[in-house]
Amino acid sequence: MESPVCTETFPIDGCVKSTSKKSKTSRSVESDIESLYKAVPQLAKTFRIIDKIGEGTFSSVYLGEARMRDGSRDMFALKHLIPISHPTRIAAELQCLTVVGGRENVMGVEYCFRKEDHVVIVMPYMEHQAIIDVIGLLSFEEVRLYIYHLLKALRHIHQFGVIHRDIKPNNFLYNRKAKTFALVDFGLAQGTADTQIKLLKVVRQKPSQPRAGSSTERRDKAPPKPSSSATAPHQSTAHPPFSSSSPPITTPATRKALIKKSRSIAGTAGASTSRTKPTKVSSLDLLGIRKAQRPVFSERNLNSCTSAASTTKQANKTESVRPGDLSNRRFPSARGGPASVRTQKPQRTAQQTFTCSCFQTDRVCNVCLARKQQVAPRAGTPGFRAPEVLTKCPNQGTAIDVWSAGVILLSLLSGRYPFFKASDDMIALAQIMTIRGSRETGRAAKAFGKAVLCSRELPRLDLRELCETLRGRRPLPDDEVPPVTDCKDTDIDGTGKTPAPLPKGQDPTPGEKPWSGLHDERGWDRVPDEAYDLLDRLLDLNPNSRITAALALQHPLFKGL
Ligand code: ADP
Ligand code: MG
Ligand code: ZN
Repeated sequence: MESPVCTETFPIDGCVKSTSKKSKTSRSVESDIESLYKAVPQLAKTFRIIDKIGEGTFSSVYLGEARMRDGSRDMFALKHLIPISHPTRIAAELQCLTVVGGRENVMGVEYCFRKEDHVVIVMPYMEHQAIIDVIGLLSFEEVRLYIYHLLKALRHIHQFGVIHRDIKPNNFLYNRKAKTFALVDFGLAQGTADTQIKLLKVVRQKPSQPRAGSSTERRDKAPPKPSSSATAPHQSTAHPPFSSSSPPITTPATRKALIKKSRSIAGTAGASTSRTKPTKVSSLDLLGIRKAQRPVFSERNLNSCTSAASTTKQANKTESVRPGDLSNRRFPSARGGPASVRTQKPQRTAQQTFTCSCFQTDRVCNVCLARKQQVAPRAGTPGFRAPEVLTKCPNQGTAIDVWSAGVILLSLLSGRYPFFKASDDMIALAQIMTIRGSRETGRAAKAFGKAVLCSRELPRLDLRELCETLRGRRPLPDDEVPPVTDCKDTDIDGTGKTPAPLPKGQDPTPGEKPWSGLHDERGWDRVPDEAYDLLDRLLDLNPNSRITAALALQHPLFKGL
């Protein structure tokens, strides 16, 4: 492409019109833009930064316009990484974008700017919609296309030995109208044993310790590193902007301050770390679509206290769940009392035999509480984490991304986003078991060297029944016909409307289910079995038998694409 030229100089504070009626948010965006120009002054020579389009704990993404040599204007996404990101991490993210990106639905990179510890990655701007805004509007055909393109991106990065580790809709940009897709955010990527990305060998399989209160385990952090160079345009793979040879050292105090600073930038404690901030009030809000897209699982419903709770000083060791609560949410669930979940190494050592009293019970004894926690990579967003990640299996591969794609498909087929919502690994595992079955989860865990115990048996659910029930296309499992007023309140379909009346002459007689046989112009009344078959294979609890992205693309569901 044409490279941008410095034909105009944009004043630092002159790029955003200021009016006295600016909202607080808009003013804070202005001041963020101003700070970015100050931190990386060379940006002002090339870009007019227009808006902030994404903000997470670890980066802020801005929309910038540049005048090209041929006089045209192009839009770019400028990702400003927080200064405490580790240099090797930043370089690895860049290397993924430069080597793997720019094709096959993977975002590419155009430039990279650096001043001292501030790094700005410049990518082509892709207009996109947040999944929460469109999920209630999508047709089955659109869902089929979405998953096809996501799998294409995964096949491509997996061929390079790149595990993305944070596959979720926020990181897979989707332009519904243009039918374009782009995988972004390699900030957590890791390499397989034979990865072709050199820098991923350096950051490969680095275990991360659980951090309380963080919904996304993220990249390594590093303090600001004094730097001599001012700019690094035209990033090349061979010359990463930073070297990892001498990791800088910082005092705990500065580190704490830096993290605090980064949190205050994000200003979203407890929220998902990467969220697009809509700049305008969407008309979808008015239709009630946003309101409808609540998770099928949420912690409020799943966190409850049982006798086991008294022993759970460490929340991530044992959690109790009440699947019965889920019946409020209108989908088939196991009935009965609370179930608690825990994971263990399957074999006990001789020492454990004598000292531990909690094996195969739903408690964690003091001996176990005192044990050192097992560490394994667990980066990502809890609701999208694969069972082998949740159980801290040390050998994790590209299959973890395939699981996340399965969670996305489950979300799209059921019309619920997010589907799983949990900040704790054991809650997330309990939610998975509620759908996929507790015995099945235990069996799969055994295959990858873990023991998963659930105090109560949770049956595996039929995926079609589950999705159709959540979409309101099927009655509740116990054949209860919900009152029509209920349909409006729950808005299962995500359309903000009650189910459409049956065609003339087909008024349901008393006792007949009003939704059976409802025609749906978006194709939700004729979802083929292949869709649920693929979903079943993506959500295979055992990573060793889970379908690969390459094979999934050959699935009969994608015939004709
Ligand atoms: P983070 O590491 O903070 O999650 P991401 O790379 O995921 O950062 O970007 C955050 C958000 O910024 C994305 O969810 C998306 O909305 C927006 N974004 C990122 N890259 C682009 C791009 N190239 N074009 C348009 N928007 C982008
Ligand atoms: Mg992201
Ligand atoms: Zn014990």
